[in-house]
Amino acid sequence: MNWTMADPGMAMAAEIVVTRLTSNGHEAFWVGGCVRDELLNRPVHDMDITTSALPEEVLSIFPRCIPTGLQHGTITVLQDKYGFEVTTYRTESTYADHRRPEQVVFVKDVKEDLRRRDFTINAMACGVEGSLIDPFYGAKDLDRRIVRCVGDAEERFEEDALRMLRCVRFASTLDFSVAKNTWRGLLRQRDKLAHIAVERVRAELERIVEGPHPRRGLGMLSRSGLLQRGKAPFPWTGSDLAAAAAYVAGIGELESARLRWALLLHALGRSAVEADELLRAWTFPGATRVSVAGVLRVREAWTAALEEVPAGDPAGTDKLRRRWIAAVLTLGQDAAFGWLSLLRVLPADSTRVVPNLSAHSAHNELKEFPAVAQIWMSRMPVTELADLAVGGNELAEALDRRPGPWLGLVLNELLLKVACGDILNDKQQLLAEVKRMVGHEQL
Ligand code: ATP
Ligand code: MG
Repeated sequence: MNWTMADPGMAMAAEIVVTRLTSNGHEAFWVGGCVRDELLNRPVHDMDITTSALPEEVLSIFPRCIPTGLQHGTITVLQDKYGFEVTTYRTESTYADHRRPEQVVFVKDVKEDLRRRDFTINAMACGVEGSLIDPFYGAKDLDRRIVRCVGDAEERFEEDALRMLRCVRFASTLDFSVAKNTWRGLLRQRDKLAHIAVERVRAELERIVEGPHPRRGLGMLSRSGLLQRGKAPFPWTGSDLAAAAAYVAGIGELESARLRWALLLHALGRSAVEADELLRAWTFPGATRVSVAGVLRVREAWTAALEEVPAGDPAGTDKLRRRWIAAVLTLGQDAAFGWLSLLRVLPADSTRVVPNLSAHSAHNELKEFPAVAQIWMSRMPVTELADLAVGGNELAEALDRRPGPWLGLVLNELLLKVACGDILNDKQQLLAEVKRMVGHEQL
């Protein structure tokens, strides 16, 4: 096999493993994703190997092994600096809870092993000499760009309900369509998604949303009604999701995963708090939640500013600028930049999702807002308390007061004034300003 899409070192190491198995009298082939991706001219990230050798035979042939999934016949063989999952040919019978095969039976024919795999494009094997074993015509489906179940779709989805989401995920990331019978089987079995752990659903969803063609997957998710049937809360209908997907046509232009989630939740009309709760229920990592909610909080601060500053106000621009700067200081630059990135890919007329915005279209800033806000931010001399030329202790000393909660209030007040350009970030000026504030009994 001549690998053109894999790291040559990895391909060479895998070839050593395959060859050692065959020279010990067993059959061994590359299988699944690596064969599919090589034929598609897509980068091959890892290589799985399927073999007639029984697990204990694999263990005895290779000195460096990890018994990853011994009961299912999978052993990770370490070769050079690479690890390969070597799995004994097997069939699966009777599935528990529409997810796990209850019984794994080792078999002698590679075709039997290929039959248990989910889709034709994933059910191809290939040997050292390069010949393709493709009993279900996966190569033809690759050519036609079709995801098709091996065997009867309805049965295959009933055995393992996660396959339905894998189907959407492969169609979405590869930009393929789904074979008619496969789609029909999916619709018939969609209720079974309720048996799948939220983490697994989330992992597939991440690959769809964060992949190269998220809109394709979102369209299929809305048409299939799959997510409404999962374990995790999904408070929308298929048409809500379809409308949101159309609204976020530019989602694929966003590089960062967290921004794609923020955009989607924005389009689905979630508040920052609701988005946070939803992402938690969907088992997203804390860091993703915090950063998505942060972006939506900036949205909320900005819409509040637009609502509170009257459109005809001659000082409106400056008021909006101050509100924006205040939001950047409290919510962070990252979140602020995030919201500006979302605005760039949202349709110019965002009134559908932010209804009150239309009343404020008289604000000139709105039209050029992302560019203007960027300038406002670039002119901020400080962005956090640590940037201030005076520290809390110094300030308390100068005022001859004990440090306490008041100190935080004063420091933040100073930070805002410096950030807005009202006073210079100079120790004497800052201290003078604080004394003035005390004099005015603002404290
Ligand atoms: P990728 O790694 O890009 O997601 P892959 O095809 O390698 O793609 P894996 O999840 O790593 O996908 O699985 C490896 C192979 O195991 C698949 O190609 C497929 O043949 C088989 N497989 C994986 N999950 C299932 C499943 N739920 N049902 C049947 N076969 C499966
Ligand atoms: Mg894989």
